Amino acid sequence: MTLGDSIDQALADARRRFSDANPASLAQFNANADFMPGANSRSILYYPPFPLTIAGGEASTIWDADGHRYTDFIGEYTAGLYGHSATDIREAVDEAMRAGISLTGHNMLEGKLARLLCERFPAVQLVRFTNSGTEANLMALTAALRFTGRRKIVVFAGAYHGGVLAFGAQPSPTTVPFEFIVLPYNDAAGAVARIDADGADIAAVLLEPMLGSGGCIPGDADFIHALRDAATRVGALLIVDEVMTSRLGREGLTAQIGVTPDLMTMGKYLGGGMSFGAFGGRADVMGLFDPRTGALAHSGTFNNNVVTMAAGYAGLTKLFPPEAAEVLSARGNRLRDRLNTVATDADVDLQFTGLGSLMNAHFVGGDIRRPEDAAGADPRLRELLFLHLLDAGFYTSPRGFIVLSLPITDSDVDGLVDAMAGFVSTYASVLVKSGRALLGS
Ligand code: PMP
Repeated sequence: MTLGDSIDQALADARRRFSDANPASLAQFNANADFMPGANSRSILYYPPFPLTIAGGEASTIWDADGHRYTDFIGEYTAGLYGHSATDIREAVDEAMRAGISLTGHNMLEGKLARLLCERFPAVQLVRFTNSGTEANLMALTAALRFTGRRKIVVFAGAYHGGVLAFGAQPSPTTVPFEFIVLPYNDAAGAVARIDADGADIAAVLLEPMLGSGGCIPGDADFIHALRDAATRVGALLIVDEVMTSRLGREGLTAQIGVTPDLMTMGKYLGGGMSFGAFGGRADVMGLFDPRTGALAHSGTFNNNVVTMAAGYAGLTKLFPPEAAEVLSARGNRLRDRLNTVATDADVDLQFTGLGSLMNAHFVGGDIRRPEDAAGADPRLRELLFLHLLDAGFYTSPRGFIVLSLPITDSDVDGLVDAMAGFVSTYASVLVKSGRALLGS
C-alpha cells in the first residue's frame, strides 16, 4: 500500500468512527437539509461526512447533540473570547433587555462602547458600528473610494475580509465586484512597486496584519511599514482589518508593530459574542458619515442594538482590559511553542504558525510567509487531525485553526498538547518525516 492509500484508509476509518458516534447530529443534518442548502447557513461550518450539531456550552466546554463534551479550542472563530457563559456578559445583556429592546433611537449604551474603542485603539478617532466584520470592511472601502475619488483597491492573496470579500489568487466568485488588485502577502518590494505604478488610481490598501483565515500567517513588520509608506506616498488610505487580530495586543496588532492606519476595522469578540462589526479611524475620513453634513449614508437597523452594545462594553471593561490581551497572548505563544515542540520531537512535517492566542496547523516544513508556502500540504492530514482531536475531546476546526478563549484552563491546554502528541504517534506511519517528499501518494 502506498503512503497515499494509507492516508485514505486512515481517513475512511476516522470518518466511519465519527459517523457511528454521532447519529443525532446526522439526523439533525438530514432534517435541516430539507430547508437549507446542505443544511447550512454559514459555509465554514460544513465538513464531511457531516458537521456536528452543537447543543450547548458552558465556560470552555461545549456538547453536541449526541451528548459528547469537548473543550472548545475554536471559540466561534475568535468571536467567542469570553466563552459560553460569562456572568458579566449575561448580566449586561439581561440588564439591557430589561430596559427595552428595539428602541428605535440613539440609546444609552452605544456612546460608551464607542468611547472605549476610541480610547483603546489609537488609530480610531471616530467609530461607527455595523453588524459584522464583513460590513465593516465594505463600509471602510466605500469610505476610501469616496474620500479619494479613486477606484482601485489593493488586497493580498489569501486574505479574508468577509463573506463578500474573500481572496485567493483572485477574488472569489462571491466577492463584490470592486476593482481589486490582488498582490502576494509579505512581498514588500512587489507591493510597493505596484502601488507606486498604479498610485493615482488606488483608493485603499486593505491589509490583515496577520492573515487569519489564510492560515495565521503574520505580516512582517517591514512589509506593513512599507505598505504604510507607499499608501501615504500615493495618497491612498491604509485600512487594516483587525477583525481577528485586535485581541493580540493592548492596542491591537498594527499599533504593536508601530504603524498607524487611516482606518481600522473590528469585529468578533468586541461585541461580547453578539453580532458585531465596527470601522473607525481618521476624523476627516469618518466625518464623511456625519449626518449633519450628510455626504455618505451608512444605515443598518441593528447597528447600535442594545444587546451588542451592552455585551461589548461589559466584555472589554470587565473581562478583557488591555493588560488581559497581553496575558492571553503570552499563554497562546506558550501553547504554540509546545505544539511545535511536539512536531519537531516527532520529526514530522507539521508546524503551528500564528501569534498569541491564534494559531494554525500546517502539514509542511519550511518557512510559511504566504499561503502558497503551505499549499503543498496534504488536506487529508488536516482532516485526520481534526477528527482525531474531536475523538480526544477537543473541538478545533477542519482547517487546523486553534484559538484560545479566556475560560480555557492550563489543564485544558495540557490536554490539547497531549492529544497532539497522541495524534503524531497514532499516525506516525502516514505523517511525512521532515524533509522527505510524499512519495507514491
Ligand atoms: N475580516 C477578518 C480578518 C475575519 O477574520 C473575518 C471573519 N472571519 C471577517 C473580516 C468577517 O467578519 P464577519 O464574519 O463578522 O462578517
